[in-house]
Order: sequence, then structure tokens, then C-alpha cells
Amino acid sequence: MLFIVFSPYILLNQVALNYLSGKWGNLNLTKECPVYVTIISHNEERTSRFGRLDYEEGYLEFRNSLLRFANMLKKHEAKYNWQSEMRFLRSVEKFDKGTVLESTNGKNIVRYLKEDLGFEVDPHCHEVGYVDGEIYNYADIAYMMERLGVIPSKVVGGFLLPPENRHNWKKFRQPITAVLNDYVWKPEILWGGAAPGHRDNKDDFSSGIWRPKDKHHFSEHDENANLIYVGTGCLFDKTLRWLDNLVSKIKDDLLPANRIYTASFIMIEDHLLNGGEESFCEWESIISKLSRKVHEGDIVWSGLSEVVEIWKKKFGAEPNRYLDKC
Ligand SMILES: [Zn+2]
Repeated sequence: MLFIVFSPYILLNQVALNYLSGKWGNLNLTKECPVYVTIISHNEERTSRFGRLDYEEGYLEFRNSLLRFANMLKKHEAKYNWQSEMRFLRSVEKFDKGTVLESTNGKNIVRYLKEDLGFEVDPHCHEVGYVDGEIYNYADIAYMMERLGVIPSKVVGGFLLPPENRHNWKKFRQPITAVLNDYVWKPEILWGGAAPGHRDNKDDFSSGIWRPKDKHHFSEHDENANLIYVGTGCLFDKTLRWLDNLVSKIKDDLLPANRIYTASFIMIEDHLLNGGEESFCEWESIISKLSRKVHEGDIVWSGLSEVVEIWKKKFGAEPNRYLDKC
């Protein structure tokens, strides 16, 4: 299924822009239309899977695995949005000290990811976790990141999409007040609209960027809406077939040129650790393949906040939504 929201005048605008910027020699407009690709990772809160984060030895194992992954991404010049829940952050506060910091230039791992590797740091919150008997929210995670020395992005790193759900995304249109702390976080970007438990294949796998209109019309663009959605594309497709198909369609002029197309690939941090060397090598192979596509000009590495800026500046904030089976 293919569904796109837009008006066609931007194509003419882009021709004019290309002329003015001296690109008239290259009339192949599809070359101006790469797919913007982001690597994402999540850690979670649930006891059974993340209990190791609560004791030092388990946390350090987890940290080493994450650090190796992040350094590998940097080596391939990939862009990465690290999206963290509370449990990991609390362990950073407890255990990132002394000789542990030697592997991260004397900084805690959150600062190292942001300051030394240049990656984006986004809150990720299921709003089911308790601290001191209270269910904390996205702003509490953002606060915790600040306490660790990093100003978090304005990206909501995952949210529940179905309109009937009590955790409706519309609440992010207002500043979020933390439950546990005197702190307010003002999100601007939504990423990763999912069904509860990723059930029934109901996650949103659109590519592109737009401003979701309202509760029952998430897929429609409203230029007056104050949140911006960055589509994930086929988030779990490690074969890259979905991405290859999108790139082919763009090259074959089967999709509107000079529109923004986005794709993310998600790494689940405990799966990486539990999968050992095999899992790491699988990821490095995926990243190498993506790197080749970057060098061939088919895709561009981009962080989520970064791609929203590109959307505004290069694409005139023109909405685009592309949906293919995933
Ligand atoms: Zn999660």
C-alpha cells in the first residue's frame, strides 16, 4: 500500500533552487532525494530482562556491550539516537565512577555518547515504572539525563499510538511536568509510534516526516500542529530489503522526488549483550552494508533531531508519508 500526503509544487521549487545553486548540470532529481537513516537503541525497565542493571558486575557487562556497539557505529560514521529508560540511568549514577570511566575519556557513558561520539540522547519511557511508589514519566527521564550532565533532546523515544490508549501521544503537545522532580520537559519530535507490546503488527512503519493532526488522524499532516513525527520505516528489518526497495523506487521515479524519506533500525540492548559475538557481528555487518549505501549516495546518516532540521531547511517542511508493507 502506498499513501502519500503532499502537494506537488515543491518539485518546481527544487528545480528552481537547483538552478540557483548551480546544480542545473545534474538534472537527475532523484539523486537529491536520499533516504535519511538513523540507528536507534533501547534499554528497558522490566525486571526479568534488565535485573542485571541493578548490580555492579551486571551493569558493567551491559555498559561494555553498549560501548562497543557505539564505538563501532562511530567507526562507520553512522548516526545514532540512544534512547534510555530510567533503570540504566540510575545505574550510571551508581556505578559510573573511578576506573570504570577509563574507557569513556573520564566521563560517564551518557556524556561520552553525546560529547565524545556526537550521538543524540533521547528519553525513552513506558510510563509503567515505579520509583519511590510513583509512576515516573518522560520528564523524569529527561531530568535524570540532565543530572548525569547531558541535556536530552526533545525527541519522544517511543510512544503508544492507538487513539483509544490512555497514553495518547497528544499529551506531548503540552510541556510534561516530572512526577518525581521539579522539572519540565518540552518535547517537539515524536518517534516510534507502537501498539502496546508491538502486538498485531499495528506499529506505525511509515517513512517520512509530518505534523500529526489529531488523536484520530495521526497520519494526516496539520501544519499548525506543534509536534513533528519522524517515521521509522520498517524498523526491525535487518535484511535491509525494505530499504533497498524504497531506494529503488526513488531511483526509478516511482515516488515523488525531493520529498524526505526516513528509515530507522533498532538495536535492543539486552539482545545485543545476550547474543554475544554473533549478535555484535551481525550488527557490524548491517552497519557496513548501510555505510556502503551512504558512499553510493543512496542514503544519508542522520540523527532524529538532525533530520528534522534538514526537513525544515532543505525540504521546506513539506510533509511526506510513505508506507509499504513491512
Ligand atoms: Zn521500550
